[in-house]
Amino acid sequence: MAAFSIRTGRFARLIAVPAMLGVCALAALVGGLLVWAGQEADEVAVDRQVALATLVVSNLRETIAHNQESVTVWDDAVTAVGEPSSAEWIDYNLGSWMHTYFGHDGAYVLDPANTPIYQFSTHSDDRPYRDVEEVAKPLVDALRQRSASGDESGISDRILSLGEADIGIVAGRPTLVSVKPVVSDTGDIEQTPGTEYLHVAVRFLDSDFVAALSRDYQFDDLRFSWTPALESGQANLPLTTASGATVGYFAWQPYRPGAAVVSRIAPVAAAALAMMLGLVGGLLFLLDRRSHRLAERDAKMKHLALHDPLTELPNRALFHDRLDAALRGQSDSELVAVLYLDLDHFKQVNDTLGHPAGDAVIIEFGKRLSGLIRSTDTLSRLGGDEFTVVIPALRSVEDVELLSDRIIDTIRQPFDIDGHQVFIGVTIGIAIAPRDGDTRTELCRKADIALYHAKSSGRSRYAMFGAEMGAILQARRDIERDLRAALAGKDQLEVHYQPLFNAATQKIIGVEALLRWRHPYDGWISPDVFIPIAEETGQIEAVGDFVLREACNAAKLWPSLAIAVNVSAIELRNPAFATKVAALLLETEIDPRRIELELTESALTDPNGVGDQNVKALRALGVRIALDDFGTGFSSLGRLQQLEVDRIKIDRSFVSGFGRLNGDEAIVQAIVELAKARGLKTTAEGVETVEQGTHLQSIGCDDLQGFLYSRPVPPIEVTALLARGSFIAKQA
Ligand code: C2E
Ligand code: CA
Ligand code: CA
Repeated sequence: MAAFSIRTGRFARLIAVPAMLGVCALAALVGGLLVWAGQEADEVAVDRQVALATLVVSNLRETIAHNQESVTVWDDAVTAVGEPSSAEWIDYNLGSWMHTYFGHDGAYVLDPANTPIYQFSTHSDDRPYRDVEEVAKPLVDALRQRSASGDESGISDRILSLGEADIGIVAGRPTLVSVKPVVSDTGDIEQTPGTEYLHVAVRFLDSDFVAALSRDYQFDDLRFSWTPALESGQANLPLTTASGATVGYFAWQPYRPGAAVVSRIAPVAAAALAMMLGLVGGLLFLLDRRSHRLAERDAKMKHLALHDPLTELPNRALFHDRLDAALRGQSDSELVAVLYLDLDHFKQVNDTLGHPAGDAVIIEFGKRLSGLIRSTDTLSRLGGDEFTVVIPALRSVEDVELLSDRIIDTIRQPFDIDGHQVFIGVTIGIAIAPRDGDTRTELCRKADIALYHAKSSGRSRYAMFGAEMGAILQARRDIERDLRAALAGKDQLEVHYQPLFNAATQKIIGVEALLRWRHPYDGWISPDVFIPIAEETGQIEAVGDFVLREACNAAKLWPSLAIAVNVSAIELRNPAFATKVAALLLETEIDPRRIELELTESALTDPNGVGDQNVKALRALGVRIALDDFGTGFSSLGRLQQLEVDRIKIDRSFVSGFGRLNGDEAIVQAIVELAKARGLKTTAEGVETVEQGTHLQSIGCDDLQGFLYSRPVPPIEVTALLARGSFIAKQA
């Protein structure tokens, strides 16, 4: 689990956090861009509105002047202002009309001496011109001077007369004051320039004008302000007089299209961002879960690939890895030890108690070993009952010896399997780096050689690899190779025959075929040496076929004799074995009843039942079965009851034990009696002395075999023996 949370942390650090930050950064960028664009748009919009307001105010001067000209450039007006009786006309046309029709707030008519002859005002009833005069006076003076000097600038098709206008404060209010001369429209009335009657128009800028402006040009919240409006976002337009003084300001809430767009887009953008974050988050979550599952499956697969499913211990691949790592990490003063371990008698446990019991032994064995090694050591199961231990960073060879002793002692304690007390031992082969090599292959090979050596010198022990072991192994390899050549050529291999005699009649009744190999350089090699090698290297079937064929051919020479042939357990495990034997007997025309196959007990306890089937089929043919080497190995008298055999061959170790303190006579007698009770024949092997022969005869042993009577001899000597009358004959 720890590995996974580290992985999750890494995922967050490497993917999730950067991805989320990326999305947020992108969103911030887009949002910032949006706000910036909005502000830019707003600034442009405000600028345009200020420009518009400026234009409106400047237009106002022209508009008012234009309004004035509708009455001041008119012959009737020129005539009327000169006549006191026309006061009513003046009021109607030059005063109240201007108010009602154009919304002017004040109108004055000045005579050539600048005395008001007519006054109209919405703000004051008495002497109102005095309020206006301050602003109007400079305009009036300028106008008269321009008129007197004949300055006609500004007059056009649209603007028909001179005019002056300015902004100022009238009665405490911001005001536009415009002055126009009352002149003839036809030119028929002569006037002295500079002495014209003047019309003064007044328009307050803080009244309904503001409302109209606000309405016509859609300025929001437009108002007049003496000081610049500082509330957020307000736009200001200063109102300045001709002399440059600022009278006050128009202030309004400018229309901000950017802000409007942003405020409209913002919720949508926020929703989009939330969705994006959700989506990315979701995807990340899925990705994380997926990679989580993948990692878990990966870890599981890795574990499976590197561990033995039964014991959960490291397997061969991991053993190789750990050994390589130990060798790489080895310092000059340190040793690395490789132990090969093999359970003794494990096959018997499996064969007699069944595979589940065998598995239980393997598991218990692994547990006991695990308890003995350090956490830095690696215990692996290579398969079957083969285990290894890698011990890195080792100080001395003695430490491995101590450990090996402890392992052997621990495994010697009985295993409790399903209520059975099972005794098994362990044999250990050891190789040490750098002494025995510094590569994995070399160390493994040497540990294996040491194991082989330990096994062959008696089990439940350990052996360190030694140089002499290499030589033994080499010799085995040579034998394997040379045996192959011998089987191909066939002139090196011969079958000799050792006669068997009837104990009662002393007559020869049969022979046992025993293989002989005359090596071209090494001379005679014992079958005890090369038969096990033939079994291990897959050559035993060829060997068996050769011997059986030779024996059948020899059998034709001696029609009165039974022929015994040794069969390896491996041969009997071949389902085709019985058929093969039957075919050969048919081919060589030998009566099956003359053939006796000698099998060991281990060959008869084939867990797959193939051995049993072969035995049944062969016995059905008439072939007899002898149980060879009885009394050695895992055999027991009790099991004799169940075996499908015709004869028991009592192992020669019993016979040679005769006459000793704890003599084997009693055991042999028990075997003979038990065999008789079951209707089985008995043969005693290895009879070397007359005493042994006499004793065996006295206890009822059927047949005798041994150097006392004859060594194994070539066929020609068997023929000679038969010719001499077939009685027991002492051979050298
Ligand atoms: P085995 O089947 O127990 O054969 C009897 C062995 O005892 C023979 O050894 C024989 O020479 C020896 N022997 C006979 N009488 C005496 C005696 O009085 N004293 C002593 N000390 N030994 C005696 P051999 O020929 O060296 O064969 C050894 C083993 O090799 C055989 O033991 C058998 O297991 C195996 N073997 C021999 N030939 C064959 C074969 O053709 N096929 C198979 N599968 N195994 C064979
Ligand atoms: Ca034999
Ligand atoms: Ca034997």
